[in-house]
Amino acid sequence: MTNNSVNFTVSQILKTKSEFEDEPKKKSREDWRKAKELEEARKAGTAPAAVDEEGKDINPHIPQYIATAPWYYGTAGPTLKHQRPQDDKEAKFSKLTEWYKRGVDNSKIITKYRKGACENCGAMTHKRKDCMERPGKVGAKYSGAEIAPDEYI
Ligand SMILES: [Zn+2]
Repeated sequence: MTNNSVNFTVSQILKTKSEFEDEPKKKSREDWRKAKELEEARKAGTAPAAVDEEGKDINPHIPQYIATAPWYYGTAGPTLKHQRPQDDKEAKFSKLTEWYKRGVDNSKIITKYRKGACENCGAMTHKRKDCMERPGKVGAKYSGAEIAPDEYI
């Protein structure tokens, strides 16, 4: 085994090899054997584990289908980043300790039904299906009476 292959995943070795071939064909038995050997050596601890771009070892016991980043992820080297929390997916939810305004806004009194408001109670902040008010027989849209104040969002 050569050392220059150590920092690549098994699937990458197979991929790189096929790029040098003139015509795309099925991976040769030899390539599969070498990849398998490297994989086995890593699992046995006789070959150093592959490392990702941050220098973290990639556990050789992680199954290939997990360790291999999807093609659209566009990774340059071995990585497990696609398995770790993604920046843009984090901090979407408020923390329990975060304060926010809640309740209803009584600062403005509404007496007319506004377009797009809840058809049941007349508040602008939700739709009829999310309404918490007792369903009226006619609904604020038509009665124009008792428009509920908007909640804080
Ligand atoms: Zn409502």
